[in-house]
Amino acid sequence: MLTGSYSSSMVLISLCVAILASYTALDLTGRLATAKGRAVYLWMAGGALAMGVGIWSMHFIGMLAFKLPIDLGYDLTLTALSLLIAVLSSGFALWLVSQPRLPCPQLALGALFMGMGIASMHYTGMAALQMQPGIDYDPTLFAVSLVIAVGASAAALWIAFRLRRHTPYVREIRGAAAVVMGIAIVGMHYTGMAAAGFPEGSYCGALATGLSGDWLDYAVLITTLAVLSVALLTSVLDARMESRTAELARSLTLANQELTQLALHDTLTGLPNRTLLADRIEQAIAKVQEQGGCFALMFIDLDGFKPVNDAFGHHVGDLLLKAVGTRLRAGLPSQDTLARIGGDEFVLLVELAEPDDAVGVAETQVNLASQPFQVAEHELQLSASLGIVLYPGNGADLHELLRNADAAMYHAKSAGKNGYSFFDMSMNSNARQQLQLLQDLRAALDQGQFRLYYQPKFDALSREPIGAEALLRWEHPQHGLLLPDRFIGLAEKTGLIIPIGEWVLGEACRQMRLWLEQGREDWRIAVNLSTIQFCYPGLVDSVAQALAANGLPAHRLTLEITETTAMRDADASLAVLQRLADMGVDLSIDDFGTGYSSLMYLKRLPANELKIDRGFVRDLEQDSDDAAIVSAIVALGQALGLRIVAEGVETDGQQDFLTRLGCDSLQGYLLGRPVPPEQLIRELGSKRTTSSEVP
Ligand code: C2E
Ligand code: CA
Ligand code: CA
Repeated sequence: MLTGSYSSSMVLISLCVAILASYTALDLTGRLATAKGRAVYLWMAGGALAMGVGIWSMHFIGMLAFKLPIDLGYDLTLTALSLLIAVLSSGFALWLVSQPRLPCPQLALGALFMGMGIASMHYTGMAALQMQPGIDYDPTLFAVSLVIAVGASAAALWIAFRLRRHTPYVREIRGAAAVVMGIAIVGMHYTGMAAAGFPEGSYCGALATGLSGDWLDYAVLITTLAVLSVALLTSVLDARMESRTAELARSLTLANQELTQLALHDTLTGLPNRTLLADRIEQAIAKVQEQGGCFALMFIDLDGFKPVNDAFGHHVGDLLLKAVGTRLRAGLPSQDTLARIGGDEFVLLVELAEPDDAVGVAETQVNLASQPFQVAEHELQLSASLGIVLYPGNGADLHELLRNADAAMYHAKSAGKNGYSFFDMSMNSNARQQLQLLQDLRAALDQGQFRLYYQPKFDALSREPIGAEALLRWEHPQHGLLLPDRFIGLAEKTGLIIPIGEWVLGEACRQMRLWLEQGREDWRIAVNLSTIQFCYPGLVDSVAQALAANGLPAHRLTLEITETTAMRDADASLAVLQRLADMGVDLSIDDFGTGYSSLMYLKRLPANELKIDRGFVRDLEQDSDDAAIVSAIVALGQALGLRIVAEGVETDGQQDFLTRLGCDSLQGYLLGRPVPPEQLIRELGSKRTTSSEVP
């Protein structure tokens, strides 16, 4: 027998190649597991090629490591055939582990197939030597090599199947498994080599025609490394792409969730919106119908939100709404729904054990809303008016329930705000009455049903009349004389306030002209303007027109605008007020103290008069805070060179107090109620006689 020897460096290289090939194969099974559609077949074909080349070259380098005393060559056809066998067995193995399941019998059969494939690759490769005479194989070692091939294949298939999913430490486990597999493959090869005996005098038949030479090992090694690294690189890059795709898909899901959140929630407060509320109400109705029980729907409208919004701007308004939403929501059980359905309107849906429980919930909500809010370094005070409907009882469906809750809320508002009202049927008829009133209002101007009443204003010290405020009345054919709070809101909502306001201006100027002619030369007539009129572009022209038509000097007319109106959209207001002031019209800031004025802005206003709100005057004698506020307003007005008027003077005490504080003029029921013009003159005349009678 010829004694063979091994080049130890080549053996080491063959082992490395085997490990690298194993690692590539395992990595590819990972790709196969997550690939979809045609990519599966591409990966399988590419994987089979890479893995086949890897296993084959391990074997071939192993052969090259083997040295006999004679020169060796390799038959090209048989060598190519052994490579083909390696690629086909690898393809089969990859296909097997890419199956969804790998039960034991299938694993055994697969291992047998693959082991046989590797063995036949090996022995076909040996045959490529074309030894003469033939190689003498030791039967025991030959059998052992087959067993190792099948066993290693079984282990490889099992590991590959288990490792194909992404688990933690998958790379490390895969590396360790690759080492085990590589050793098994190498073991099979060298056992097979050990089984081979080369009789003395053998020669290599493939030497003349086949592959031979020193370059062969390098060529094989380099090609193999190239193939394996391309496969590995592609696999790693693809895995990275895949994880990025997965990430994209995840963020898409997230975006979708956000979108539904947006569609069903109010963006400002994050509370459910009208759509989601409607859905929850429908569900609540269905639940009560099936299982009994009851729920309440509460329509919550904030009192005094608009002035804040106008005075501090939308940013502060938005923050305030957010704070309100958070506070009202905070104490509620999670199954209840608090929705924001409009500017400062919220609706609360609460499940109740007993209908009576609604009172407690309503009280809590009203109380919560009335605590001061700290928003962007302002302390803001609000309150809430709340209308309650119960189901079953106060409506058959969603729309009726909401409509009735709204009606109940209006009832709470007109009952003084900062409270709640339960719905009852009469409120519905209220709504119908409002509609009728609106129709009547449209006709009222043409039919001459409006009247102006006049309330006198007096100099605080001399107690002499200095003019009057025109206050609108509606002589309604059925309801009698209506006060402005019954219809001004309606007129503003419908825009009817513009023609009505023009009539008031004209009529007041006409009356003042008459009084001038009767010798009231130092009087001024005051006319109220609503926000809607103030924002109307034709205002300045209608004022000029009313003055001109009646030949009235502009400074005989005082226009009263509320503080809130003047402060809203400060710059635009300033422009309008400036034009009126340039005409010579006298300007008064009405209801002063109820809004939120900025001192800076107040200084720039071309106003002539501040009118202290009735609210402060009313409690003057009981509430020392109000006295402090009034004296502060007086000081402020004096500093700014404004006249100070106090309205709502009802008692002698108030009159004295206000006079002492330094108010310039006074107005109120004590001194004279609003009355028709003839009556005003009559009363003033008799007053003069009574006062002149007293010594
Ligand atoms: P205002 O400008 O604050 O008018 C004063 C209101 O206080 C009047 O109510 C007057 O009757 C009432 N009042 C006067 N003295 C006293 C008093 O001693 N005690 C009490 N408790 N109240 C007193 P009225 O006439 O019902 O007017 C209410 C509001 O309607 C007015 O408030 C004004 O904002 C608005 N208004 C009245 N007339 C017109 C108008 O022609 N055009 C516009 N746009 N608004 C008007
Ligand atoms: Ca007024
Ligand atoms: Ca007022």
